[in-house]
Amino acid sequence: MTVDSHSPAPPTLVRKYGGSSLASVDRLRDVARALAAKRAQGHQLVVVVSAMGRTTDELLRLAHQVAPQPPRRELDMLLSVGERITMSLLSMALIREGCPAISYTGSQVGIITDTSHTDARIIEVRADRIRASLKEGHVVVVAGFQGVSVDREITTLGRGGSDTTAVALAAALGALRCEILKDVDGVFTADPHKVFAARRYDHLSYEQMLEIAEAGCGVLHARAVEYAQQHGVPLLIASSFGDGPGTAIGPRAPTDDPGAQPCRWRPLALDVREDVALCELCGDFPDGGAAWSRRLARATAPETLLAEWVEQGGREFRWGAVGDPEAMGRIHAALAAAVAADGGQLRFLRGQACVSVAGTPRGGGTAAREALAQILESCGAREWLVRADHAVIRLLMPSGDLPRLLAPLHAALFPA
Ligand code: ASP
Ligand code: MG
Repeated sequence: MTVDSHSPAPPTLVRKYGGSSLASVDRLRDVARALAAKRAQGHQLVVVVSAMGRTTDELLRLAHQVAPQPPRRELDMLLSVGERITMSLLSMALIREGCPAISYTGSQVGIITDTSHTDARIIEVRADRIRASLKEGHVVVVAGFQGVSVDREITTLGRGGSDTTAVALAAALGALRCEILKDVDGVFTADPHKVFAARRYDHLSYEQMLEIAEAGCGVLHARAVEYAQQHGVPLLIASSFGDGPGTAIGPRAPTDDPGAQPCRWRPLALDVREDVALCELCGDFPDGGAAWSRRLARATAPETLLAEWVEQGGREFRWGAVGDPEAMGRIHAALAAAVAADGGQLRFLRGQACVSVAGTPRGGGTAAREALAQILESCGAREWLVRADHAVIRLLMPSGDLPRLLAPLHAALFPA
């Protein structure tokens, strides 16, 4: 495409592809063809990529084989490689399609972060090299999830952080829109692969999307939504390969709301984890649980937990967490030893399914709890636990009950 210097620059679109859309060479080539077609329609394209498939998990596993607690700086050096592999391969695939392309790392395009290794925040985006390469007619491919710190060290932005890279670039470039392309066509009331009747949202507000993202409903990095809201970047979540309409996210109130119902609790979406364990600790302690807080901070790694809650008042201290059964087993063992010495009650439950329901309960947690109890009883559930975790309600039930309860639960929470 030759750009006539007198005509205004074509609109810039930022597109982000997730790891599963780029999991194989065939998929990379499909993405390259889709991008070449989009460019032919007259767009300037900036493409942000994640690591291919499960690369990041594999790199993490390697690191933990070498050292049980890998230094965070070195972890960033390692993890940032995943996205570099994808960016260079995609750029090659684009060039093969006859589409001029160039790849850059986060540091090369001036994504400046703070110094918090493995969980850095973006402070500034320079993006001059992107502007120059777009002007030359290139499709610019950028490695997501990474930047360079004010101390000139490579940093990563936390798991799922490529979304934030895409939004930050869209803001810096004044892009028309930031498209986050996934293996599902938008944001649904539940994962459509797990709940047949799940419904797609046409529109969501930034606030609603933030509640869904913070519940860990797996669609978007919460920081990316915050960034988009702060900078007014219009978002579109859509399928990588289909032509579906996706879900648009912006400042306006939604025009449709599948979660609307007369009760005061309007859940937005639910997410399911089939196999988790729960660990809870409570007791009356002279220091109000201060020693326990310190001990728990040492015993738990936030990235292995699905949810964690703490209640402190007077001498009373209550803590609970849900997560991967192996990690929870280790935490339980560490706490059991301390309980034997210092007192307190400990409870550990394996074989649980956790249904996370996003959406702030308007009438407070109690209204949501009551609504849920009614629904569960009418579905014939026998055993369950409900825990409120900020704007998320976590519902735990024996894993074996989930297949029978999930569809009726979804139907009751999101009536048509
Ligand atoms: N590859 C990184 C991760 O798996 C970043 C991302 O996918 O956004 O967390
Ligand atoms: Mg990934």
